[in-house]
Amino acid sequence: MRPPSWLLASLAAQIAFVPALAQEQKITSANPNGGRPEIHNVKEMREAGGYSAPGARAYADMAAEAGGQLWPVTLYYRCQALRERRPLKAPAPKPIEVFDKVYSIGTAENNIWAIDTKDGIILLDTLTTEADAKNVIVANMRALGLDPRRIRIILITHNHLDHFGGAAYLKALSGARIGMSREDWEGDPKWGKLPVKAGEDFFLTDGQQVTLGDRTLTVLMTPGHTPGTISLLFPVTDKGMPHMASLFGGQGSPRDVASLLEFRRSLNHFADYTDLMQADVVLSNHTVGDDGLTRVTALANRKAGDPNPYVVGREGVVRYDAEWRMCLSADIDEAVSKAAPGTMLPTRPPAKP
Ligand SMILES: [Zn+2]
Repeated sequence: MRPPSWLLASLAAQIAFVPALAQEQKITSANPNGGRPEIHNVKEMREAGGYSAPGARAYADMAAEAGGQLWPVTLYYRCQALRERRPLKAPAPKPIEVFDKVYSIGTAENNIWAIDTKDGIILLDTLTTEADAKNVIVANMRALGLDPRRIRIILITHNHLDHFGGAAYLKALSGARIGMSREDWEGDPKWGKLPVKAGEDFFLTDGQQVTLGDRTLTVLMTPGHTPGTISLLFPVTDKGMPHMASLFGGQGSPRDVASLLEFRRSLNHFADYTDLMQADVVLSNHTVGDDGLTRVTALANRKAGDPNPYVVGREGVVRYDAEWRMCLSADIDEAVSKAAPGTMLPTRPPAKP
């Protein structure tokens, strides 16, 4: 059950968007993040924070303790900077094999993942336009020796244009089936026109397993960024060593309290699965979502015997999940604490989505 609409409208109107104070980071090989600020610890969080409610500040402190060392880019983005869009100055990373037959082929902003199987390729998201699909996705696949006509399944994480815009072109090129949640496929994309759902296309549902060849991906419904955002878990190998990858399908925090609460419930659902499946890898569809520009640069410079920078271990995944929940909690607390007297949330907790 959702809180009443009059309450949510009142809370949404009162969320304060405080400008960020953190210093812009220098772009170096150690910090290739295109000028994105980072937060590494509680002190930096308090300087850059902008949270004024005591509860929100406590949550933000805990987020910094959880994620500051391993996830400084995501920490700034989630707890602070999401309302401040600095233009990204990083060049697009070169396409690269991140895990055995799992390839990163996106832009500096949006990552696209191609997963090769013995029966064809699974593609995760499609960028914004047909030109992006041609000039980035197809070009990068060819550069890596992957034939784009072998794409068999295109999974779209959510109905924002930068994720589905190239889908119709890629489907026409390859004959791939498109999978997307019903909530997002039948919802209002706000920007752009969703691909028309054909007979062979399919809806993604919670707990569903999508298999192609020797690969199986587990789908989770994780609404909040959009009503039908999906997330994924799937096994990968690094030079033959097995790992479990997790990929949360939506990034930016919503502005209204109901969606923030839904997002936090979705992160708990996601964390159930990252625990149950012992995920030790974090991937994202945005480079801001996995400190991706740092990691892909480290991977490109990897020497024989070095660890894969995308393998963060169980501690890295637990800290990532915790940081994110704490940042959303800070946003929730800040908004609720500023609500007018008499408009507090009902004591009954909202039902599961
Ligand atoms: Zn989005």
